[in-house]
Amino acid sequence: MEKVWEIQQKRITNISLSLRKKYYSELPDDSCYFDSPHGIDGNMSESIGAWPEFIFRGTFCRRTFKGYCSPCFYSQFPLERKETGDNYIKMVRNQFDYVIDNFEKLVVKRQFGSIQQKELDAPITFVMTPTGSYFDDAEFPQELRIEMLYKLATLSKNYKMGFHLLIECHCKDWNKLDFNSENTKYEIDLLKKLNTRVLFGFESANEYIRNVLYNKNLEMQEFTSAYKEVMDNGLEAGIFIFAGLFSMNDALTYKDVCNSICFALDRNIAPVIMFQNVQQYTITDVLFQAKQINLIEPFTVMEIVLFLITEIEKRGMEYMEWLIADPKGGPPVPEFNIFDCAKITSQENAEKIYDMICELRLTRNRHVFILKAQSLKDTSNYREYQQMLQKCFKYDCLPENTDRLLLSAENIINERGKKI
Ligand code: SF4
Repeated sequence: MEKVWEIQQKRITNISLSLRKKYYSELPDDSCYFDSPHGIDGNMSESIGAWPEFIFRGTFCRRTFKGYCSPCFYSQFPLERKETGDNYIKMVRNQFDYVIDNFEKLVVKRQFGSIQQKELDAPITFVMTPTGSYFDDAEFPQELRIEMLYKLATLSKNYKMGFHLLIECHCKDWNKLDFNSENTKYEIDLLKKLNTRVLFGFESANEYIRNVLYNKNLEMQEFTSAYKEVMDNGLEAGIFIFAGLFSMNDALTYKDVCNSICFALDRNIAPVIMFQNVQQYTITDVLFQAKQINLIEPFTVMEIVLFLITEIEKRGMEYMEWLIADPKGGPPVPEFNIFDCAKITSQENAEKIYDMICELRLTRNRHVFILKAQSLKDTSNYREYQQMLQKCFKYDCLPENTDRLLLSAENIINERGKKI
């Protein structure tokens, strides 16, 4: 990694760590024992697709405490009150058992998508995964994973229905599996029975954006061996692609996300687009509250989605399971989202774009989205947006802009520290 990049990456790590520590020092004294996961309310805005997503609560993403992943702070609960040992195992087991015991109500009846509702043999699809990384043994031990998969495979047999499970993990944890061990072979066998797609946090194909701005701590080589191993084992792969990092503008974000989408499709990997929002105790939050940055425009969200669906069509890859996370949803529900605080896109158009995305996620009807987008592109508001894009700085100014904003975030945090 270039020296300048390394320095910026360290500064981002330090800022994230200090914000996360502040969060822990201000915590209310709540219990951290949970019997059911996130997602049981069945709200589609909490899922990456038109079906339920269950995230185990009371578990930790170990990257949080290393200062990685600048826009993310999912592990928001008290470190010292984390359940451990048998209690922890029991808590996680209770959570997946809760879903399995109520499967009809929580999963089968919540296949919201038009395809699932029209096609009788459409697989029952859902995400069931811990907070951070599925294959992290500290977070989700292998014996517990096997137990959950076995119960799900038995359920699928009893229902005489195919399941399609999605799980989320860091490449490093998948790469650490011992692929020669009997347990891992059995685990992969169960994953295959459940038609599993392994979704890796990847964020961007660009090295600077992935490992400095996002601070993912993921080398391309690690990613390449991870997705190839997934495919060699007869499973499907997907990657999260992130749109909207703190020092990037709309033009750079669009370009980077489109590159990353092509990177995924070139390798037959499903792209899962995550749009930025403002999560508390993140660099984005500090800079956004200080009015130093804006979130990307809803028109940029529309353009990215347009690129995704037209690229799929152009390549004849209609079979590909592309996904878009709800840009307003949680967990945790963000403090601010792109559609609430647009600077150029009018409130009316922002609402239209959000509705178009909700509809697309439900119906997967690309043509309707393209038609509606076309009519928005004919407005004077869209022309204003295009003028703004012309003024965006280019990629070679990005490190300089990052420096400027990091200094600003450091100063704000130092000032706050003095007032305590
Ligand atoms: S993005 Fe994923 S790996 Fe990174 S801190 Fe968040 S949950 Fe953990």
